[in-house]
Formats: sequence, structure tokens, C-alpha cells
Amino acid sequence: MTELNIAHPAGRLSCWFKGRHVNPLLKEINLIWRQADIEWFVESVVEHEPATTDMSAARYIVNAKRDDHGRGDPDRIPRVYSYFNVDKHYPVIQNLYFFPFVGSTSQGFAGDPDDRVNRVSNHAAVGIWSNEYSNGGAPYRTPVGERARADTPDTPPQKSNFFQKGSLGRNYAHELGHHLRLAHPDEEKQAAFQRLMGGQTSSLLTDSE
Ligand SMILES: [Zn+2]
Repeated sequence: MTELNIAHPAGRLSCWFKGRHVNPLLKEINLIWRQADIEWFVESVVEHEPATTDMSAARYIVNAKRDDHGRGDPDRIPRVYSYFNVDKHYPVIQNLYFFPFVGSTSQGFAGDPDDRVNRVSNHAAVGIWSNEYSNGGAPYRTPVGERARADTPDTPPQKSNFFQKGSLGRNYAHELGHHLRLAHPDEEKQAAFQRLMGGQTSSLLTDSE
């Protein structure tokens, strides 16, 4: 298996996510989605050979930044997908990818559920390294399992701060929300806060969501 390690100015971003991380991650995702009576199951865990080992796209991704409105650079997304072998995608389940890094201060992205052209409608990718909470500085491993739990014993599950900033479980629960056609709240108009689809650490769904 060729390991796709990405070179970042702060160091080499390895493929640290392994099969033993899957169950702790699934537990976190299901803790969040329990409030909607939704439970996710793992169909299979597959290691893919990268479709290419040409690292020029990775160099673009490492340097991709958000614009002044906080939107991630859309041109980085096809470059992330260029490392995936689309022929191996499962057509009718959600395909979740663990990629070393998906752009400065980005944590992940989901394919448009209505996209029938690029064959990415049921795909999402998260960075197993991120630098969102170091404000574009050195990337850190996104927490999973015990490391993902915030040290706030007075806070019941699914309230704010239950998950540490940038936990992998919260990130993927958010991307799965996009697959279920949930959108980000309009920051100008939103009445509810501490939400899975907006905000940073909390994971509440509104009644309509
Ligand atoms: Zn999102």
C-alpha cells in the first residue's frame, strides 16, 4: 500500500487513521445523530491505493485558503478527489474518505447530494490533520475516541463542548448532514445556535433538521 503523506511547511502529514479508529469514530457520529433517531453502520473499511502519487495537487491543497467570506477554495476539491479511485466507489452508500489534509483551516467537505455528473454525490472527505484551531498554523491530528471528548463533566451529551474542537466524529457527522441535504445556517438570520451544521464544537440539530 502506497501511503499518501502530504508535505506541509510544518511537517509531514501522515495517514495515521487506521481500522482501529473506525469504531470509536462511529460511536461519536451515532452519539450526535441519536437526537434524530438515525444510526449509521459501517458497511466496510477499505484501504485504497491512491489514484496518483503526483504531489502537485497536494501542494495546491496545502496552500488553499478560505476567502474573505470564509468559503473554502472550491478548486481544491477536484484536486483532493484526484487521489481517489472513483471506480472503487460504492454507488448506494456513503463513501467517507480520510485524507491527510483538505486545505488551510478546512476540516472537510461533502459532495453535492444532487451531483450526478462528477459521481461524488455520496462522498465526503475530512482532514485527519487540520489547522482550523491553530488559525492556519501548524496542523494537528483531528481528535478521535478518548481524545475527542471534551473535559466538561457537567455538560450532558449533545450539549455544547461535548466534543473537542475539530473532533473527527463531529466533522463527519456534519458532512453526513450535508448528504441528508442539511445546509449551513444563514449566520445573519439564524435563531438557533450551537448547531451541528454551524458553529464549532456543539452538535445540536434543530426541530426541522
Ligand atoms: Zn459544511
